[in-house]
Amino acid sequence: MRVTFLGTGSAMPTGERFQTGVLVQENGRTLLVDCGSGVLHRLQQSGVGYERISTVLLTHHHLDHVADLLPLMKARWLAGEEHLEIVGPQGTKALVDDLLDVHEYMQDKLDLQVREVVAGEFSVAGFDVSAYETRHSLPCLAYRFGDLFTFSGDTEAFAGLANFAEGSAILAHDCSFPDDVDVSNHPTPETLGTALAGREIGRVYLTHLYPHTEGRHDEMLESIGTHYDGDVRFAEDLKTISVE
Ligand SMILES: [Zn+2]
Ligand SMILES: [Zn+2]
Repeated sequence: MRVTFLGTGSAMPTGERFQTGVLVQENGRTLLVDCGSGVLHRLQQSGVGYERISTVLLTHHHLDHVADLLPLMKARWLAGEEHLEIVGPQGTKALVDDLLDVHEYMQDKLDLQVREVVAGEFSVAGFDVSAYETRHSLPCLAYRFGDLFTFSGDTEAFAGLANFAEGSAILAHDCSFPDDVDVSNHPTPETLGTALAGREIGRVYLTHLYPHTEGRHDEMLESIGTHYDGDVRFAEDLKTISVE
């Protein structure tokens, strides 16, 4: 399996990190998880291209995870790709309908399939996926792809989600802010390290990074390291990891 970070930023731009998007590829199958602002460009830069994205899986409906959905639809339509499946938590149908209400001319341009999923097991784009409800300001699902990859989506750090991710070769986890930012709905290194303490995870990538984290990576890793002694790194846009 290949996991490519298309966007490792958040709702506030850093100038370097685009909003959330993760590409999951295995045996010729391709799935885009989340489609925030900038992801359409990153898809092009990644060499995969928007033409090969026929399924998008959403963690939740915040703008920084869905902003490029319509641009993706329009680009696919212009490129003659007629199909797109959008899968996400409850409310995804209403979201897509409402987006198309605003940009009416995009209605009926694509053969659009929209599917809502809940926590548990399901299959999407040929991948067997487990979903787990996170703790965030909107309903949000974390997704796990077998023993290879878990993506936290947006969430506070907590034991239930750490249990869900345990045993993964790769975990990409929200780590929005450094410790001195008072925040709910997202982790800080301290809360993330505490939740991960004692877990068996191959490697953890920190993502969903606000500008507040710039220049503070070392201290953030140190803070996590006081609780969790595993391999932890910062994700970067367009970084690809091969997992077996
Ligand atoms: Zn969010
Ligand atoms: Zn977000």
